[in-house]
Amino acid sequence: MDTKYESILASKPFKFVVGPKKKQFMMHEAAITRLSKTLDKLLNGGMKESKEHCVCWEDIDEKTFLRFGEWAYTGDYKPEEPEILLDASQIAIFQKDAKNATPSEPEPVVNCLATFNSTAAPPFFHCEQNVTSTATITCKTCRSGFLTYRCRPSYCGTYQFYACHKCRGNSMQKRQAMIEKFNNSSTYAPPTTPFTPRKNMESCEDYSGVFLSHARLYVLADKYDIKELRDLCAHKIWVTLKEFTLYPERMGDLVGLVRYSFQNTVENDKLRTLLKDFCACIIEDLCKGEGFQDLIYEAPEFACGLIIEMSMRLE
Ligand SMILES: [Zn+2]
Ligand SMILES: [Zn+2]
Repeated sequence: MDTKYESILASKPFKFVVGPKKKQFMMHEAAITRLSKTLDKLLNGGMKESKEHCVCWEDIDEKTFLRFGEWAYTGDYKPEEPEILLDASQIAIFQKDAKNATPSEPEPVVNCLATFNSTAAPPFFHCEQNVTSTATITCKTCRSGFLTYRCRPSYCGTYQFYACHKCRGNSMQKRQAMIEKFNNSSTYAPPTTPFTPRKNMESCEDYSGVFLSHARLYVLADKYDIKELRDLCAHKIWVTLKEFTLYPERMGDLVGLVRYSFQNTVENDKLRTLLKDFCACIIEDLCKGEGFQDLIYEAPEFACGLIIEMSMRLE
């Protein structure tokens, strides 16, 4: 029998008052004090909290506290489930599809970092019209003429490519190298058993809550200096991001994760570095997504770090 559990279960109860609604929870003192020096001091340091056997964590939401408790007793925690969106705009798309029974263009292939392939042509996303023709334009890099698809000028007029095949090949190789470096980084190795994330399979799966559940727990672990929990949260975020299919509709979920993380951590933080490195790998997708411009205004440290990271991909 593990003596760790004996000492935990034999210890006194300690009260936590959690969230804005001040919900009360009880945990064993020894389940907390063993986690970090900061927590040991909070519970045993002779302050008001240690005398009253009660601590107020009103700035921590209930779900994050429950995950903290789950981890303190079992050594692991479960993230939030994704939310399946079926809003008005998506229902409209389904109805449109039902009317046009004839098969139209095939579904574009959307990558995640784990399966990223620099030789595959990226999907061409533009407006809803989906009417394309070919056009010859000048490569923005080498100034030679090349053939590409474009949307009709009377619709959105977007070109599929703005650089020729050769120039794209060079930049894609650099992107591939950056992605491999991120995918194989040893910085985010699991402190205990590796985590297998749930993969997103459709663009209607909103991962905002999934990402934030990890990030909120990370911030709690950071505040109370619980290194093992901080490393576990960073590991889970890293593997979830590697497997995250980059649907254009889901870029806002990533923006939300970056915003929260930069608002609640300090300079040189591990999670900040992770997100900056990840965003540099996917900047082509992220910058077209919802909320990206606002994020640049709100988190200048992120913008600055991202530009430095992205410069690695330039000649
Ligand atoms: Zn278009
Ligand atoms: Zn070129």
